[in-house]
Amino acid sequence: MEFWIVINKMTPSAQGLVEKCSELALQRNLSPKVLCFEDDRFENQAAVRDELLARYIQSPPEAIVFERSHFFADVAPAFAAIIGKGITADCTELEWSDEHGLLQIRPTYGGRKIAVNRSVSTPYIATVRQGVFGKRGLGLNDSALETLETARLVFSGGLGLRTKENFEKLSMLAKACGAKLGASRAAVAAGFADYNHQVGQTGVSVRPEVYVAFGISGAVQHLSGILGSEKIIAVNTDPKAAIFDYADYSLIADAEEVITTLLCNA
Ligand SMILES: Cc1cc2nc3c(=O)[nH]c(=O)nc-3n(C[C@H](O)[C@H](O)[C@H](O)COP(=O)(O)OP(=O)(O)OC[C@H]3O[C@@H](n4cnc5c(N)ncnc54)[C@H](O)[C@@H]3O)c2cc1C
Repeated sequence: MEFWIVINKMTPSAQGLVEKCSELALQRNLSPKVLCFEDDRFENQAAVRDELLARYIQSPPEAIVFERSHFFADVAPAFAAIIGKGITADCTELEWSDEHGLLQIRPTYGGRKIAVNRSVSTPYIATVRQGVFGKRGLGLNDSALETLETARLVFSGGLGLRTKENFEKLSMLAKACGAKLGASRAAVAAGFADYNHQVGQTGVSVRPEVYVAFGISGAVQHLSGILGSEKIIAVNTDPKAAIFDYADYSLIADAEEVITTLLCNA
């Protein structure tokens, strides 16, 4: 039987998902099959659903894992509904259980709890957050291929940066240090950064070795996108900021001053 891995493009993030799912497939003597739908225009959703359905009718797989994107966030549940199966959206981990098959693991309650979902029948269907297996397939010298989701180092700014000019300084610092630039939703709403930099529940999830939050309060919607980071460093003027509860290193300081000092020494 097959284990389908459904992606839009072979990005480093998708490559990580393909490698992870291929390992899972081989652990159960399943054949991994990558289905790549490069054209992700809205009007093609029906065509992609039909294509999946035709393949499914011909030979149902044991598992179907979609890389989450705006496109598959619509297509995957619609497809699951058509074939009358359940789906777990937004997984951050997948693993086999001898008793329950493919466990679909995802954060819940704004990242404060982890839900382990199991399906009562096959195929197991899940969407997986972009980037959660994204570091796989990247060698030490592959930093040019990194995206925000797969970056080892992320510098993010929040409303505490106060101006777009300060955000530009942060961007320069990130470039100088080989970090990717992230932003809180409030910073994006204030026009300091574009949406594609937004980290959190409605942005991207990151899993860097080090995540540095400058002037970010630590709302649950932001935290849910950063808790996969190995180390979190927070810079904030408010000693009671929630982000400090999750930070490995806390710096109670003015973010602009810290950025300017680091930039002078970068
Ligand atoms: C459905 C929904 C989805 C959401 N999705 C997301 C999401 O994906 N990502 C996201 O980030 N948010 C998201 N939010 C918004 C979230 O709730 C917060 O409003 C947002 O994260 C706050 O951004 P912030 O920390 O930059 O701003 P604020 O909460 O205003 O915090 C600014 C911080 O800067 C500090 N500060 C002020 N001056 C300085 C200074 N000079 N130096 C250092 N620190 C300073 C302050 O003490 C404060 O802690 C979502 C909200 C909802 C309802």
